[in-house]
Amino acid sequence: MFQKILIANRGEIAVRIIRSCKQLGIDTVAVYSKADETALHVHLADEAVCIGSHNAKDSYLNMENIISAAIHTGAEAIHPGFGFLSEQAKFANLCEEVNIEFIGPSSKMIEQMGDKATAIKLMKDAGVPLVPGSNKEIDLRMGKKIAQDIGFPVLIKASAGGGGRGMRLVRNLQQFEDAFYAAKQEAKAAFGNDGVYLEKYIEQPRHIEVQILADKYQNVLHLGERDCSIQRRNQKVVEEAPSSLKSDVKEAMYAAALKAAKHVGYENAGTIEFIVKNNQFYFIEMNTRIQVEHPVTEMITGIDIIKEQIRIASGEKLKITQNDVQFNGHAIEVRINAEDPKHDFRPSPGLVKFFHMPQGLGIRMDTMLYTDYEIPPYYDAMVGKLIAHGKDRLDAIRNLRAALEELIIEPVPTNQYFLMMILMNNDFVHNRIDTAFIEKHIERLLAYET
Ligand code: ADP
Repeated sequence: MFQKILIANRGEIAVRIIRSCKQLGIDTVAVYSKADETALHVHLADEAVCIGSHNAKDSYLNMENIISAAIHTGAEAIHPGFGFLSEQAKFANLCEEVNIEFIGPSSKMIEQMGDKATAIKLMKDAGVPLVPGSNKEIDLRMGKKIAQDIGFPVLIKASAGGGGRGMRLVRNLQQFEDAFYAAKQEAKAAFGNDGVYLEKYIEQPRHIEVQILADKYQNVLHLGERDCSIQRRNQKVVEEAPSSLKSDVKEAMYAAALKAAKHVGYENAGTIEFIVKNNQFYFIEMNTRIQVEHPVTEMITGIDIIKEQIRIASGEKLKITQNDVQFNGHAIEVRINAEDPKHDFRPSPGLVKFFHMPQGLGIRMDTMLYTDYEIPPYYDAMVGKLIAHGKDRLDAIRNLRAALEELIIEPVPTNQYFLMMILMNNDFVHNRIDTAFIEKHIERLLAYET
């Protein structure tokens, strides 16, 4: 096992990783930008190294400075968290070159899965159901032809995609050319790669993903699935486990996910994402990192996924078998953002004068907030995740509502009331949800008084 790990991230996920390291008896090194000198992860880690200015490009994305910090402090491994460098094959490769264990899969795996057109091809070879589409990068002529063959509406998606960027919905042939160039331009600006591919647009599907764990010795298991259908602009807002899929569909999906992971020789924690419509599931992408929504799986399985990631990276064999994975009750997570929903969800960084974290049986909050913390304006708006467990879905909803009511973050505007409106919504309560839920209900979800 490692003695010291550097956490190449900030915010709640850095705090979360430090917690698991401490429980494993591992020393921690935080890295931070000049804007994060007073951040909680810096307080909590055993050591902390400043890696650059507030601009993420100069600090949390600064590979050389992070590697130097690891070498200087004698860290044997780096946990990248999510976002930032977590899916940059080049960074994983740099770690490999200097003999520091990157807590995640190999750089080659990250590269393959990060290029969605390549990932789709691999999944096709593995026999995993795909969304009808081009299955490879397209040019304009090929795209138009395939779109006509599979039928409109279609989605143009960026090969290097993430966070819903570089994605365009096209309803007819007339719209195709403009959408094609717009998607390419957006992809180029966001990822420096303008490759795009085509998928049939599945109307109002559910987004369901399977959590995988795989060690270095070809042992692969799944930790069940999460329903992440409540999204805003293709970004997840509420996530829960388990989903309401019928058990035979779930079993088929688990089998497909395991087959996919085994086929590519996957290692460490990963997520295979599907969209589901009328009990049919289709692969959309694989994430080669820990995900924001991992706590809901932890709450129903009792398995600490970060600890498993660390054990796997250190070369240990998985001690859990598939039979050991039992699902208990239901868990729901809401993402708490410093943003103002009533003003087009604009970010609202600033000084938190009073913070109170909800408590109670089955309540968990992963956050970096504390009273008198100043949320810097330079990074993601997410300041925490509130998670509730219950004996069933309704019980989890009730517990989460109570926790959300107890949460105090003042005076910074957050999406707290907006989230409460989702949890109170009749369709949500009756599990009539799909990826269009927020769009469909937006007026009512914003009709709260503060
Ligand atoms: P990104 O990596 O940019 O987040 P994904 O491929 O993971 O992109 O898709 C994000 C979300 O976009 C999905 O959860 C789903 O809501 C929607 N989406 C993606 N592909 C399709 C599709 N073919 N049909 C309908 N919705 C889709």
